Amino acid sequence: MPPPSAPGACLTQVLVHTPAHSQMTGALSYWSPAPLPPGTLVRVPLGQRELLGVVWPGESATPPDTALDPAKLRPITAALEALPPLSPHWRALISFAAGYYQRTAGEVALAALPPQLRDMSSVQLGRRLKKLAKAASASVKPETRPTQASDTAPAPEATGASQSVRLTPEQQQAIDQFHQQAGPFLLFGATGSGKTEVFMHCTAALLAASSEAQALVMVPEINLTPQLEARFKARFCALYGDDAVVSMHSGMTPAQRLNSWLAAHSGAARVVLGTRMAVFASMPQLRLIVVDEEHDPSYKSGEGARYSARDLAIYRGRLEGAKVMLGSATPSLESWYHSRPAAEGGRYLRLEMPSRIGSGQLPLVRRVDMNHQPKSCIISPPLLAAMAQRIARGEQSMVFLNRRGYAPVLQCSDCDWKSECPHCSAYRVFHKIDRTLRCHHCGLSERVPRACPACGNPDIVPLGRGTERLEEHLAELLADLRRPDGEPVRIMRIDADTTRLKGTLESQLAQVHTGEVDVLVGTQMIAKGHDFRRITLVAAVNPDNALFSSDFRAPERLFSLLMQAAGRAGRDETVATQSEMWLQTCQPAHPLYEALKKHDYPAFAASQLKERQQAAMPPFSFQALVRAEARSQEAAQGFLNLASQTAASQSDTAALLAHLMLYPAVPMSMARIANIERAQMLVESPSRTVLQRFLSAWQGVLHSTRSDPSCKGVIRWAIDVDPLNI
Ligand SMILES: [Zn+2]
Ligand SMILES: [Zn+2]
Repeated sequence: MPPPSAPGACLTQVLVHTPAHSQMTGALSYWSPAPLPPGTLVRVPLGQRELLGVVWPGESATPPDTALDPAKLRPITAALEALPPLSPHWRALISFAAGYYQRTAGEVALAALPPQLRDMSSVQLGRRLKKLAKAASASVKPETRPTQASDTAPAPEATGASQSVRLTPEQQQAIDQFHQQAGPFLLFGATGSGKTEVFMHCTAALLAASSEAQALVMVPEINLTPQLEARFKARFCALYGDDAVVSMHSGMTPAQRLNSWLAAHSGAARVVLGTRMAVFASMPQLRLIVVDEEHDPSYKSGEGARYSARDLAIYRGRLEGAKVMLGSATPSLESWYHSRPAAEGGRYLRLEMPSRIGSGQLPLVRRVDMNHQPKSCIISPPLLAAMAQRIARGEQSMVFLNRRGYAPVLQCSDCDWKSECPHCSAYRVFHKIDRTLRCHHCGLSERVPRACPACGNPDIVPLGRGTERLEEHLAELLADLRRPDGEPVRIMRIDADTTRLKGTLESQLAQVHTGEVDVLVGTQMIAKGHDFRRITLVAAVNPDNALFSSDFRAPERLFSLLMQAAGRAGRDETVATQSEMWLQTCQPAHPLYEALKKHDYPAFAASQLKERQQAAMPPFSFQALVRAEARSQEAAQGFLNLASQTAASQSDTAALLAHLMLYPAVPMSMARIANIERAQMLVESPSRTVLQRFLSAWQGVLHSTRSDPSCKGVIRWAIDVDPLNI
């Protein structure tokens, strides 16, 4: 490395991960011995550390001609030139995401790169790339390489399990539309209508049209949809080689993640299958982005830059000229609204597939009015009878409840003691299996006390019910029943507790599939995605809570969960006519359940959108939350309120306040976690542009308010744009 003054050395701007609170928001300046193309990965010194960075000309944190003292600039340590630079499109995506979600570009860019890159030299990288290229060329089977579009006649799948699939007229129509129009598309298809097949056809067509084209397929959680991954691999690895389909999700080892990333970046991977993080995958020839189950809240990141991978997919598609297809049986109300007719202002094209393949039947929805059932019964007599019928016929039932553990609270029968968490505003949950009280928020876990800690009474009792207790209860209720083979009934529970160990979920699911299980008990985890062919009864034990939630999105989430759960029943044609969804409710006439009974998402969406419009809620307004954490609730709220007052007194922010509402600070619904108090402030505007302009200007105010002596107790704050939970 030449000294800074060496002839030929040039000034290079480099983006590194600077923490948001440091207020170094742009690129930093370094010397480089030779000009480096934008997007080149480099290693640079910062203070005592050496960091990975990206050459990022254009926006410099160091004003170019005032404070810049060339003698103080340090040279870059190394350039990872073995790697092709990141594309201008990728950099534009990062810049947009950083601006929109109010974070630094450095944070977003570096979080989007595989962590292992941070510790590799250019030589090591070069070697890794060579190895990947060699493996890729070895695995391609030239005789199966398609010479032209294989769209109408898909190649036989490698597993031999499935033959070429005949499309339904609805599928064919959706695919035709996809080819004729630019999109973005919202594929609105009932559960079991064959959305995956449409995704695969569209992918196949675009990949066949160009030998370099790449497709990004996003799913909420890969572990929950192993069948989807298997189908994509079976089809596209057969065509383009074993390395043509790579996965990208947080469950992978750092080495696997790096390999997938390199395969995508080098173009060797034709299909990237990933969770929300994959929206930032470097894919130089991206032609298609699919977002399956687009309504799923997991597409919204809950930490760092709180981005929505679904919304970024739309932006990225436009940026790169790639087609975008969102898919769901219960679209988010935002996407549903955007896909209204173009004449009414819709921007997405809605493709409808209302029919279920095979039987064409959706399960019958039955409501049990719990007001007319024996008091405090958990499984009502008619539901129990329906389950007994299934058991006698050798069919499976699925019962779900959204609370894991044995009981949500332990209570003293004498005094008022309850198993509160000393560090959180929540109860510790009783787990009978290891007799612990566990806080699901801070993780505190203790043995159950022998007697009430407050009064010494040995009689402390579980209150309420979690999946563990439901499993125990069902075992008692079904103890005398027999399967057709004379064996006792087998019950299995699947939730976050039973699946903690790697591989257990897969083996549990396999047992359900082979029919070893008669009754499956679990949290909403079991309601999503799985293709259980022999389940003919799905029951929601206590779904009412969400009807009365203070979160305006709770009904939307409940409806979608119940629709998805209902879709688990009767996937197999031979049993479809007997399939039922049971709801135990004290509100049987609630419009949400009425719409569910008719499997009528459009009716439900219309009524919800009407309510949202009247209340000026999203998608008819735009929101952001500022959340603050502090040692005391006073400090957290004080900081937010002070920043709000300052906004009113500063000209750049005050001018925008006429078109924008800043609400007073309030405690978050979980006000305290692990002894940290949390408060939030809602910002709302009918205009996205106004909201964005305000947030950018307000950032500086928040930073300076934080250093006010009165805000000493504030630990951190963050902005959440388009928040999902309010
Ligand atoms: Zn007591
Ligand atoms: Zn706790």
